[in-house]
Amino acid sequence: MSHTVLIVTNATMQKMKNHYGVSSALPPGAVFAAKVDGCSVTGYRSGKVLFQGREAERESAKWDGEAAVPKTKKAARPSGKLPDGFSEMSVIGSDEVGTGDYFGPITVVAAYVETDRMAELRALGVRDSKDMKDPEIVSVAKKLLKDIPYSLLVLRNEKYNDLQESGMSQGKIKAILHNQALGKLHEKIAPEKPAAVLIDQFAEKEVYYRHLKGKKTIIEENVFFSTKGESIHLAVAAASILARYAFLKEMDLLSEKAGFTIPKGASSKVDDAAARLIRTYDESVLRHFTKLHFANTEKARRIVRGG
Ligand code: MG
Repeated sequence: MSHTVLIVTNATMQKMKNHYGVSSALPPGAVFAAKVDGCSVTGYRSGKVLFQGREAERESAKWDGEAAVPKTKKAARPSGKLPDGFSEMSVIGSDEVGTGDYFGPITVVAAYVETDRMAELRALGVRDSKDMKDPEIVSVAKKLLKDIPYSLLVLRNEKYNDLQESGMSQGKIKAILHNQALGKLHEKIAPEKPAAVLIDQFAEKEVYYRHLKGKKTIIEENVFFSTKGESIHLAVAAASILARYAFLKEMDLLSEKAGFTIPKGASSKVDDAAARLIRTYDESVLRHFTKLHFANTEKARRIVRGG
């Protein structure tokens, strides 16, 4: 039986417990234990989360983005050595948003920040978006959009669900999107070339490139990976702000369509909102609004059946 292990922070463990609930008997030392389609998930007080079953990889991949931070990787941890003075180099950075949210798309942005623009961008308020509230992100993003070359991709829910159902893991989907955004931005700024590319790391380098096998254009030159890339280079911070902004705009559109505010994340609030959509319209609309394979779909169905 295939299995995957993640080491997560307390906050993520709590988030996962809320997400999966407790539907199986708790083994010793466990915080939660649940079964989802093709996979059982058990979280332990030690911070270890065990995924077992044929869907183990796919289920754990939902958490390999922003939600699960391996304990040993809390600080920025580049895989491979970065060149000296990296943070001052002219770099294309890329980041994605929405992978852990049940509602809404995945947005990926690649952004180019040149050395001589950095002071100006800092003055605009560009910094690690994890320390910024949404209104600030929106206001900084609006200025950034006009200020630097970038490429934005939005993978909306229908398309995401098609890809996911065709057997593509979320990791592979992300790799393809990052590569595509990077390729487009390289074209946009040509003949100029960045000194380097920094991808906010969601997979090991080897895994990332394995996902891209067979693609016509693969961006490989001077590419570096690091967790917490926002703290390493302003280009990733800018990409992250723009991706978040695009995600928020998409969520506003979805809220408009739904007729009520669509919540972010994957908590029980989200289950209630999905149940409300099913009751108001029909279960088929979830395909347009959500990442169907999340456990939230089944929870929403249960709410509808129970109420
Ligand atoms: Mg990221």
